[in-house]
Amino acid sequence: MKEATFENAIAFAQDLIRIPGLSGGEEAVAARVLHEMEALGYVDVRLDEVGNAIGRISGNGEGPVVLLNCHMDVVAEGDHSEWEYGPFDAAIEGGCLHGRGAMDIKGPLALQTHAAAALRGTTPYDIVVAHTVFEERGGLGMKHLLESGAVRPDAVIIGEATHGDVCVGHRGRGEVEIVIRGEAGHASAPARARNALDALGEVLAAVRRLAESQASDPYLGSATVVPTMVDVLPQSRNVIPDQVVVTLDWRVLPDMNADSMLADVRGALGATATDRTDGLTVEVRMASESQAAFTGFTSVRDLFTPGFLMDPDTAVVRAAAGAVGRPGTEGDASIRPWAFATDGGWSCGIHGIPTIGFAPGEERYAHTNRERLDLEEARWAFDRHPALIGALQRTLAGEA
Ligand SMILES: [Zn+2]
Repeated sequence: MKEATFENAIAFAQDLIRIPGLSGGEEAVAARVLHEMEALGYVDVRLDEVGNAIGRISGNGEGPVVLLNCHMDVVAEGDHSEWEYGPFDAAIEGGCLHGRGAMDIKGPLALQTHAAAALRGTTPYDIVVAHTVFEERGGLGMKHLLESGAVRPDAVIIGEATHGDVCVGHRGRGEVEIVIRGEAGHASAPARARNALDALGEVLAAVRRLAESQASDPYLGSATVVPTMVDVLPQSRNVIPDQVVVTLDWRVLPDMNADSMLADVRGALGATATDRTDGLTVEVRMASESQAAFTGFTSVRDLFTPGFLMDPDTAVVRAAAGAVGRPGTEGDASIRPWAFATDGGWSCGIHGIPTIGFAPGEERYAHTNRERLDLEEARWAFDRHPALIGALQRTLAGEA
């Protein structure tokens, strides 16, 4: 049996960094994760239908289940010559592990996987570790994991970078499309066509009104909505277009969802959509895309990632912050939101499962060609996991 240690976790992280894999291409990473789980003594080690890698460390009794979660996909690495260290070399230099995924999120994934295994034989209750697919494109993996009932956690720890703080939420993100339809025609004879572009000005004015009326949260800030693209079809300079699609990027608060977003856009458009006399139609829909998992599972998904927010004063959050503490000093961990979205939107925002984030790593390096994980900070974070997991178990079991 492989020993669950910090050093072995970092060697595992290096192996993972050397296996590239974008969203939908996680197969080899997942195989390596399952192999490590088996070597560490996990039970029920398996892939689910969408390719999430799942394993369990058995507890000594029945009680609340804590789920540790990272994702297996990474974002594209771009031009290799722009990296100081090769994106897939997993170099260790200057006290840091370097490369794509070092902190987002293969380093933390390896730390979580070993931290849970280190509690084998002593944990009072089951610890489930599930590393998911497609996080970087909206979270198909986590969505499926929880909807399928393959795991039923009582709390979730997400290993996205918190730089040692305890993170308790973030805004979500959705894409909405406003589609203007008319009748195409030759640009030399406008009278025979209905130009979809004629309604574009009114539509953009309505979006601006919508943007000015966004709700705000004292903790997460304001929701924001902004048009980011206009697609014209057919795309020809001498054809009057019969279709114009305006794409909105919407950073949403936790109580917003696809239905509320569509209703808000329709409300802002008002008569622009409902009372036209020029033969044009204006329709609102969620943007969607077809996603294919490496297992063959396919799904046409609305482009929507929910937000979430845990009340910082709840027992679970207080217990987590107390257990994590601060490196080199007294006191509880700082509690704050993330700037970016995570799979916590599904676990907490949609399923209502208490969810917190804790991991080493600085947000500013994520998705950059300077991605790195400070090993001293990583070792500290690794060492905090037994206290963190134990605190959540005791709080959920009503023992704290
Ligand atoms: Zn991530």
